[in-house]
Amino acid sequence: MQSIWETRQFHRTPDLVVIGSGIVGLFTALFYKRNNPKHHVVVLERGPFPSGASVKNAGFACFGSPSELLADLEKEGADAMLARVENRWKGLLELRAEMGDTAIGFEASGGHEVYAAHDPLYTRVAERFDVLNASLRPIFGKSVFTWDDGAIARYGLSGVDHLAHTELEGPLDTGLLMGTLLRKVLAEGVFLRPKADVLRVEDGPGHVRLVLQDGDELEAANVMICTNGYAQQLLPELAVVPARGQVLQTAPIQGLRVKGTFHYQEGFYYFRDHAGGILLGGGRNLDLTGETTTQEGTTPLIQEALERLLREVIIPDTPYTVTQRWSGIMGMGPSKTPIIEQRSDRLFVAVRMGGMGVAIGIRVAREAAALVR
Ligand SMILES: Cc1cc2nc3c(=O)[nH]c(=O)nc-3n(C[C@H](O)[C@H](O)[C@H](O)COP(=O)(O)OP(=O)(O)OC[C@H]3O[C@@H](n4cnc5c(N)ncnc54)[C@H](O)[C@@H]3O)c2cc1C
Repeated sequence: MQSIWETRQFHRTPDLVVIGSGIVGLFTALFYKRNNPKHHVVVLERGPFPSGASVKNAGFACFGSPSELLADLEKEGADAMLARVENRWKGLLELRAEMGDTAIGFEASGGHEVYAAHDPLYTRVAERFDVLNASLRPIFGKSVFTWDDGAIARYGLSGVDHLAHTELEGPLDTGLLMGTLLRKVLAEGVFLRPKADVLRVEDGPGHVRLVLQDGDELEAANVMICTNGYAQQLLPELAVVPARGQVLQTAPIQGLRVKGTFHYQEGFYYFRDHAGGILLGGGRNLDLTGETTTQEGTTPLIQEALERLLREVIIPDTPYTVTQRWSGIMGMGPSKTPIIEQRSDRLFVAVRMGGMGVAIGIRVAREAAALVR
């Protein structure tokens, strides 16, 4: 039995329901609400708070390391690679402008790619380094990557011979970003309904019906699915597969010299300083099949590889304690381009952010919100 107040305030048919309160879902709801201030906008989230990759990631504000960009160039050609870099870079600038650097804990401490001793990857990158810089110049207005091998000793790294640096990247505080974004979205009039696990989406002519895990059902004029790595649970035909990423964090380390964000082994590993310790993730390549899952969890195989890297490369001969381990689910597919599309009159999707959602999330959301009329 609803009161008239509940019916009018909370239970009227939403003009837009967004499923998923990650960075994409929250920004989509925010931009749609700004475009349509009188509309009723509700975000449904399965967890008690945002629970997907947006609150599990490593917090790299990055647009691609030299080896990643060269691999993209080989696979997709120059135009696609450059368009993606531009999208990521503009996304980071928009994110920082919208939220403010302090509110997201962004530090301009630089991004790095490090190459192991005798690494053939280094030769491949070195041969094309200047050409890559030249092709990126129109986006950044300067040579964005420089060699800075002298910094290897300063950062205390071992077994590393070469280091490429860009001053335009850096770490941010993922928790601060998502907390601030959630508060902003609520303050601008969007409703969040947590613990609302959507089981089924039934697309009808006049509205979309949503069936929730708890048995409740609701109708919406329009629905935007922003569930990224979980997208196939609602739309099995979408070309998005889950990709788990594992992470660990150490306690503060006395005399820690690592500063900024680091990519290693073609981006299969990534590490940064955080809270006086090291935050380190990666190793999916060791068990791609096992890590193609929506199940959260860590495995000894990958966690041991991460710790080996810690001991042998990042903080050699330094005692450390791992204080936390976790995983997050990304959405990947045959292409690195996100899916932002209208599926029917009233049903829309914005998914498949790969490992780039921090950077591109805000732009994906702007485009997604504009699709809904
Ligand atoms: C370990 C790791 C490290 C990463 N590092 C970086 C990085 O450094 N830089 C970067 O740019 N990107 C990084 N990424 C990728 C980035 O985090 C993601 O691309 C981005 O967060 C995706 O945002 P999203 O909103 O699309 O999805 P998500 O944040 O996953 O949000 C989806 C939401 O939908 C909810 N949901 C799912 N199904 C349902 C349902 N049926 N009903 C209701 N709710 C549902 C989930 O609970 C979740 O809250 C990393 C990811 C991981 C896992």
